[in-house]
Amino acid sequence: MTDVLVVGGGLAGGAAGTLLARAGRTVHVLERHSSPADKICGEFLSIEAQKHLEDLGINLAALGAVPINHIRVISNGQTVERSLPFVARGLSRRLLDEALLHLAEKAGVVVERGVRVTEIETHAASTSQGPRRADVILLATGKLPVRAEGIEAPPVLDAHVGFKMHWRANASIRRLLEDCIELNLMQGGYAGLQLVEGDTANLCLVIRRSRLAALGGRWEDVLMSLGGLSPALSALIDAQPLFSKPLTAANLAYGRLPRGRGESPVFRLGDQAAMTPSLTGDGMAIALRSAWLAAQFIMAGRSAADYHRALAKMVGPQVRRGMLLQRATEATMLRSAGISLLRMQPRLLRSIIRLTRLPDPAPPFRGERP
Ligand SMILES: Cc1cc2nc3c(=O)[nH]c(=O)nc-3n(C[C@H](O)[C@H](O)[C@H](O)COP(=O)(O)OP(=O)(O)OC[C@H]3O[C@@H](n4cnc5c(N)ncnc54)[C@H](O)[C@@H]3O)c2cc1C
Repeated sequence: MTDVLVVGGGLAGGAAGTLLARAGRTVHVLERHSSPADKICGEFLSIEAQKHLEDLGINLAALGAVPINHIRVISNGQTVERSLPFVARGLSRRLLDEALLHLAEKAGVVVERGVRVTEIETHAASTSQGPRRADVILLATGKLPVRAEGIEAPPVLDAHVGFKMHWRANASIRRLLEDCIELNLMQGGYAGLQLVEGDTANLCLVIRRSRLAALGGRWEDVLMSLGGLSPALSALIDAQPLFSKPLTAANLAYGRLPRGRGESPVFRLGDQAAMTPSLTGDGMAIALRSAWLAAQFIMAGRSAADYHRALAKMVGPQVRRGMLLQRATEATMLRSAGISLLRMQPRLLRSIIRLTRLPDPAPPFRGERP
């Protein structure tokens, strides 16, 4: 029996566990991976995500995060490159999530690795290592659902599938991607690439299931379709892949937002609560903000329903704008009109980027009433 049981030791789970332990709660985090693992993600850290991580005590520069000052958008053979309204960072999730779990342990959290949770009730969880009990349960399993009373995952029509692969960045890839995130917009999705620490390039792409099937359904078919879209993609496809096969995630529930009425007392965090299109590069910030908000509500003795309502209010507008952006980039006509407009209006891209961010920075966490 513990005060708080956090299911999932990713960004949201690690951050919430750390904050609650620092505020004096006994916390257990259950993580299914038994050792540091790669996770599907573009690994683009927005300014809001960086702020949350630095407030927690993560030193991104010391972990080797690389700066990203520019964005390059490519579609229909046209390219627009602009400076970002902030300095972003590229850092692998393998390093970042591990750093956060270490921080949690330092704060007193018991992190149990290699434990998979199979079902959650109000104060109990069934796991691969037997049952666990807690006063409060936080569901932070990211894109992976867990059976829990009162929580349903409605089916998503023609959902997106995500792929991720790391590549050894040779000199030409480093030159093409230095200081830059590149977004290749294509029918039914996009491919994003950028550098992370250690001369590594990350290619993360999202594609509608129907488009994937039309291409042939396999990763190799997707790669073939990317060749020639941009010089960086062509260089990457000839480079050395660092995983034996890509990481994949199916049924991405973009647009998910919490509902605050008549639901389970389990606090849902991160992607389990709110999922903005990955194209916006702010999902990690939302995961960290949800952890910050949940920790505040728990410390103030407030209910999960109150927390879900507050989270929906805080992140709902940006998620809805992100969904509009995603739809526009997937529609052929809008995409080609959009890229021409971006070329004509130098400030437009920066405005779009701002509109898909978290609102104000969160004040430091003090475990006070929200
Ligand atoms: C293709 C793609 C690209 C993206 N690119 C970006 C980007 O560039 N920038 C950005 O800010 N956001 C990006 N995102 C979004 C971002 O990755 C997520 O929003 C963020 O990781 C959510 O954090 P989380 O803590 O909710 O989940 P996760 O980080 O996924 O963590 C969940 C944890 O729970 C564990 N777990 C799962 N099931 C169980 C179980 N049953 N029992 C125990 N443990 C379990 C997992 O192993 C994992 O460690 C992207 C998302 C996708 C799909």
